[in-house]
Amino acid sequence: MKKIMNRETYDLIIIGGGPAGLTAGLYAARAKLKTLLLEKLPLTGGQTINAWMLENYPGFPDGISGPELIKKMETQARKFGLMIKTGEVNEIKVSGDMKQVVHEEGDYFCRTIIVATGASPSRLGVKGEKRLIGKGISFCGTCDGFFFKDKDVVLVGGGDTAMEEALFLTRFVRKLSVVHRRDSLRATRILQDRAFENDKINFIWDTVVEGIEGEKNVDKVILKNVKTGEISVEETDGIFVFVGTNPNTQCLQGFIDLDKQGFILTNKNLETSAPGVFAAGDVRKKLLRQISTAVGDGATAAFAAEKYIDSFHS
Ligand code: NAP
Repeated sequence: MKKIMNRETYDLIIIGGGPAGLTAGLYAARAKLKTLLLEKLPLTGGQTINAWMLENYPGFPDGISGPELIKKMETQARKFGLMIKTGEVNEIKVSGDMKQVVHEEGDYFCRTIIVATGASPSRLGVKGEKRLIGKGISFCGTCDGFFFKDKDVVLVGGGDTAMEEALFLTRFVRKLSVVHRRDSLRATRILQDRAFENDKINFIWDTVVEGIEGEKNVDKVILKNVKTGEISVEETDGIFVFVGTNPNTQCLQGFIDLDKQGFILTNKNLETSAPGVFAAGDVRKKLLRQISTAVGDGATAAFAAEKYIDSFHS
C-alpha cells in the first residue's frame, strides 16, 4: 500500500474508537483541540458493538443495544468536529514534544496521544482451538448465535460476558452447557440468577477444556474435572469461549510501562509513563472495566491532554 505523508500536526490523536475513544473525541473536539481518532476496524465501537443489550449504562432504563449506543456516541462526537479515520497503528515514536503515530497508510504527527485500543477476547490455548475457530468455535454470541438454532452448545467461562452471552444464546440453542473452572461464578449477581433460572442452561463446575475435536467442524470437547482429574467427552455442535480479555497493546511494547498482563499503567490523570501520552478504557490497568468507566476515562484523558498542551503556552 502506498504510504501518505501527513505533514499536518494534530493537537491530539486518539487510537481506538470504542466508548473511551469516542468520549475522549467528544471532549477534545468541544475543547477545540484539533483531534483525529484512528480506528483499526471499518466500524467504531470495539467490543461494545457485540453487545446485544446493555442494561447498566445509565440513562437507558429499557436498555440499549451496543451498536445503537455507539452510533449515538459517534454522531455526537462528529457533530463537534471529531475526525475519524480507519486503519491500523503499528508504532508510536516520540521526538521531543512531538509524537509520531506510524499508521498503515502513513505517519501522523501530534502533541498528545490517548491510547484507547481496548481489549480482545482471550483464547483457551488448547489443542484443536486454532484449527476450528470459525468452524464451530466462536467468541461472539451476537455474531454467530443464529447459526446454532436448535443445536447443543458448550460455553466456557463464568464472568459477566459469559453469562450475558449464555442468556442471549438461549434464544437460539436447544441446550447450553456452561463449563466453568470453579464451583461459583464471577459474574454479577443479577446475571447469575437469570442464568440459574434458565431451563436451557446447565452448569459443569470445576471443569476445564483440555481439547476441541472435529474433522471439518467441532463435534466434541474434551473436559477435565480439576478436583478429581476425571476426563470426559461432551458431544457438541459448537463452543463459545468467554474467558476474559487481553489488552490491545502490541503497538506499544517497549514504549510505555505495562503490567505483566500487558495493561497500560497510568497515574490518576490517566497519563502513562510517556509524557503527553494518556490511556483510557479497557486497555489500562483498572478495577472495573465497563462502558460507564470507559466513558469516564475518555473524559478525564481528554481533559488531561488539554491541560498538557496548555502547559506549553503558559
Ligand atoms: P472476566 O471477568 O475476566 O471473566 C473471565 C472468566 O473466564 C472467569 O470466570 C474466569 O474464571 C474464566 N477464565 C479465565 N481464564 C480461563 C481459562 N484459561 N480457562 C477457563 N476459564 C477461564 O472477563 P469478562 O467476563 O470478559 O469481563 C471482562 C470485564 O468486562 C469485566 O470487568 C466485566 O465485569 C466487564 N463486563 C461487564 C459487563 C456488564 O456490566 N454488563 C458485561 C461484560 C463484561 P475465574 O472466575 O475462575 O477467574
